[in-house]
Amino acid sequence: MELTKLTALELGAAIKKGEVSVKEAAQAALDAVAAQNKELNAFITVTSERALNRAEKLQAGVKDAESPLYGVPMAIKDNICTRGVKTSCASKILGDFAPPYDASVVERLADMGAVSLGKLNMDEFAMGSTSETSFYGPVRNPWDLERAPGGSSGGAAAAVSAGLGWYAIGSDTGGSIRQPASYCGVTGMKPTYGTVSRYGLIAYASSLDQIGPLCRDAADCAAILDVLQGRDPKDGTSLDGQYGNLLGSLTGDVQGFKIGLPVDCYGDGLDGEVRASVLAAADVLRARGAEVVELSFPVMEYVVPAYYIIAAAEASSNLSRFDGVKYGWRAEGYESLDGLYRKTRTQGFGSEVKRRILLGTFVLSSGYYDAYYRKALQIKAVVKDAFDKAFHQCDMLLTPVAPATAPKLGESLSNPLQMYLSDVYTVPVNLAGLPGLSMPCGFDSKGLPIGAQLIGPHFGEGRLLNAAHAFQLDTDYHKRTPKGGDPA
Ligand code: GLN
Repeated sequence: MELTKLTALELGAAIKKGEVSVKEAAQAALDAVAAQNKELNAFITVTSERALNRAEKLQAGVKDAESPLYGVPMAIKDNICTRGVKTSCASKILGDFAPPYDASVVERLADMGAVSLGKLNMDEFAMGSTSETSFYGPVRNPWDLERAPGGSSGGAAAAVSAGLGWYAIGSDTGGSIRQPASYCGVTGMKPTYGTVSRYGLIAYASSLDQIGPLCRDAADCAAILDVLQGRDPKDGTSLDGQYGNLLGSLTGDVQGFKIGLPVDCYGDGLDGEVRASVLAAADVLRARGAEVVELSFPVMEYVVPAYYIIAAAEASSNLSRFDGVKYGWRAEGYESLDGLYRKTRTQGFGSEVKRRILLGTFVLSSGYYDAYYRKALQIKAVVKDAFDKAFHQCDMLLTPVAPATAPKLGESLSNPLQMYLSDVYTVPVNLAGLPGLSMPCGFDSKGLPIGAQLIGPHFGEGRLLNAAHAFQLDTDYHKRTPKGGDPA
């Protein structure tokens, strides 16, 4: 059995039947990490010994295990706290910070019987769209090592796509799960805001941040969200599980689903091959009984500026806690307390993070608050309204995930504004707190994966996953693996 090609649910079933031991599964993943991580740089920290010990312990519980994912090895983005294991946010300023507690999602996964292989590389503090701003160096895309895997959960997407673990837990503030999933040919989901606890997620922009899974397919995403969802008393914005058992309701039946194509998302600036593949996905769903309608979504030109103002404003406040006193790394040779702060932050943050702190501080300053920040909040309300109107006409929207496929390494950092604009299809979902899913829907002429995005109303996860599952029953894009993911 070629273990690394199985989905998480398939591996879980094989473990349950006794065809594979938990330790064999963990060893297979660690072998894949050893063979490929030098090249991909998907992991910042690999916890081999911990994983093997845990696997051995879990074996005794296989018979009584309730979860279909019991014993399946996975990995966690490095902005999610893991007790005693370095959590760096891919930043110098956090140094070797090893949190004294686990994030709530990490606790839930541990209770379910997950085996963690380690921590995944990302853009520094989740700020970026290519995973190139990491202090630990860029992640490479397994489909083409000269290209970026997307970001900020680029390590997560690269790992799942190349077979370094069966699923990953990432975070999405403006597309950071969906866009790398799209560039690397995996399925990723950003759930409805509040349905998964953010306790222990190192905050970037708290009103937009959400934790979610990156997987081989939609069924795996459903199984993982069933573990992650639910109210957490440690996160005041978390809500009771409002979408029920997702895996159990996965039928692939899309009969009567009304799928909206927002014409404003298919205009100028969208690559022709991406457009053709996403529209072909609509045809597949239509053939399975869904109805496809066109509608207007006239807010697209405002979403990127509004997102970057709100995200930067919240980041400037959230990141003020990194001062060289409380966590991680501290600069040497300071003369005063103020000097300690200044030197640590100057040397500890990378330039993209500093750009956002400056921008965020500026838009919140008294002379400019009304002109920028308040206006951005007003646009956020308008975007919500536009989605409400759209969902009166259809059950879900189908759009591209990004205007183009994975860029060459180095291309985006030289033009940050261009990079920000590439988030145009993903950020509206966060502004409105909606669920969004990215699924592989084709390849371009360079052989790079293309992703399609499904967006639903609040708590519409079940329908989105059903539509993606239906699509995956009739296509095999999600089953293809990059050369790097093929151990043969
Ligand atoms: N690319 C976006 C940004 O840099 C989104 C990042 C994210 O979702 N964490 O803000």
